[in-house]
Amino acid sequence: MDKTGKLILVPTPIGNLQDITLRAIEALKNADMILAEDTRVSLKLLQHLEIEKRLVSHHKFNEHKTVNTIVQQIEMGSLVALISDAGTPAISDPGFLLVRACVENNIEVECLPGPTALIPALAVSGLPTEKFVFEGFLPQKKGRQTRLKFLAEEERTIILYESPFRLVKALNQLATFFGEDRQTCVCRELSKLFEEVKRGTLKELEDYYTQHPPKGEIVIVVGGKKAK
Ligand code: SAM
Repeated sequence: MDKTGKLILVPTPIGNLQDITLRAIEALKNADMILAEDTRVSLKLLQHLEIEKRLVSHHKFNEHKTVNTIVQQIEMGSLVALISDAGTPAISDPGFLLVRACVENNIEVECLPGPTALIPALAVSGLPTEKFVFEGFLPQKKGRQTRLKFLAEEERTIILYESPFRLVKALNQLATFFGEDRQTCVCRELSKLFEEVKRGTLKELEDYYTQHPPKGEIVIVVGGKKAK
């Protein structure tokens, strides 16, 4: 790997440490600087990989301020790796601002292929995979109903990230806007010891998770509206 300045987005495991790729390890070893969302979380990963590197904090509360300095460092020849707490940086995680700044400054950006929660969830859902939309997290309060109303007309498979505390409420609201019978898949704790994949209608899944309050991390995959 050459040492000319560039930004490399390095996906990290979403649960199972064995999901780190050989190229991700190499990129972390070769980096002059590793930017991490939460340095305490990433330090554990680096210790597991036996990589001794200084981690620099890069999260949604400081990224606006630090982007220009990072761009300057890359322009001076630094190889900068960006990691988030889990999965692919810039996907419902910090990264977009830095990538955009690099692109605007003609800096090379590379993203290694690797772990992310949305693709395994879609692939395992049994719902059509040919066309899909990734919505990330729905707005928690303002704009939530408007977004749900808009998505009710979506014909492609819809992928959402949701917290376990709001899962039942989300399934209930999705049923209200999309209809109770819409086929859905809830993926919980993907790649982890207690991985669970539940398929059914929105109503069936709402009933199930009302009776079995979920823990852990969740992706909801909802079938699109039937085309007329
Ligand atoms: N950058 C990450 C990615 O590439 O998927 C996403 C980060 S986002 C802050 C975290 C959300 O991703 C969680 O709230 C959950 O919705 C989803 N997620 C992450 N890991 C997961 C897992 N192991 N199982 C199910 N969902 C997961």
